[in-house]
Amino acid sequence: MLIGALEAGGTKMVCSIGTPQGGVLQRASFPTVSPEVTVPQIVDFLGKFDIAALGIGSFGPLDLNPASPTYGNITLTPKLEWKGYPLLAELKKQLGVPAAIDTDVNAAALAEYEMGAGRGLSSVLYVTVGTGIGGGLVIGGEMVHGLVHPEIGHMMLAPQENDPMPDGICPFHRHCLEGLASGPAIEKRWGLSAKLMTEDHPAWDLEATYLAQMCANMIVTVSPEVIVLGGGVMQQAHLFPKIREKTLAILNGYVASSCLTEEGVDAYIVPPQLGINSGVTGALLLGAKAIGA
Ligand code: ADP
Ligand code: ZN
Repeated sequence: MLIGALEAGGTKMVCSIGTPQGGVLQRASFPTVSPEVTVPQIVDFLGKFDIAALGIGSFGPLDLNPASPTYGNITLTPKLEWKGYPLLAELKKQLGVPAAIDTDVNAAALAEYEMGAGRGLSSVLYVTVGTGIGGGLVIGGEMVHGLVHPEIGHMMLAPQENDPMPDGICPFHRHCLEGLASGPAIEKRWGLSAKLMTEDHPAWDLEATYLAQMCANMIVTVSPEVIVLGGGVMQQAHLFPKIREKTLAILNGYVASSCLTEEGVDAYIVPPQLGINSGVTGALLLGAKAIGA
């Protein structure tokens, strides 16, 4: 049985065909332009295969309330052509198969929970640090929704005194995580591409401080059993030891767990075990869930 998957991002749409177990067989990627241009490309690719269901992990915010008339729509996005777009309903209609949707980061968290860094654990936090910052949570096998869905990228942080841009760049909030620590925030603050910064650039100490504040906040609120940090900015592997050290320093020994010790933290704050495939694998798993496969 084949499952179709879409990882819908603000920059590109990654389509894949795979197995209900999350194995990726085929991939194609299209730039995210407008629904009029991009959706036919997605439908054209996925429609070539005899898929039994479709799973979608999408950028958001999304309406994830199944009782809502706008269930599966993208609600608010700076990409205006996609604002209010009924992504789930359109793809379901055009492909004629059962489909399920969740946030890209909830899908990635599900994949890491089932097949990656969270295997055998009961909860996983997945945070992507890229053009935006988003976080997904799986607890006891279920992706967390609630009122809407978590918006971890917009948690308030304590701006640092040595930060030349302490308000951040989020149009909605002052000193939220995304506004302070996304790739575009780093680049605006220092006037330099994050990819080109050397390891000793002061950007990284500040970045690690903000990501450590997020980790500490999440540890004291939801107590995840593992924290997976992905996305373009986390390609800077030297951030991991810095974030681990600063997280322990912020918690200051208050939370008693062997994961929150110098020996334990290396296996607690980790890169995605599925690498760049977390999102797409999660979307396949979502598709399989849609038909109980
Ligand atoms: P998106 O969030 O658009 O899906 P990414 O997760 O790749 O895509 O994030 C893109 C952001 O990450 C950009 O702001 C870019 O500057 C930053 N980025 C990408 N690669 C690196 C890298 N190797 N080092 C530092 N920053 C990077
Ligand atoms: Zn914000």
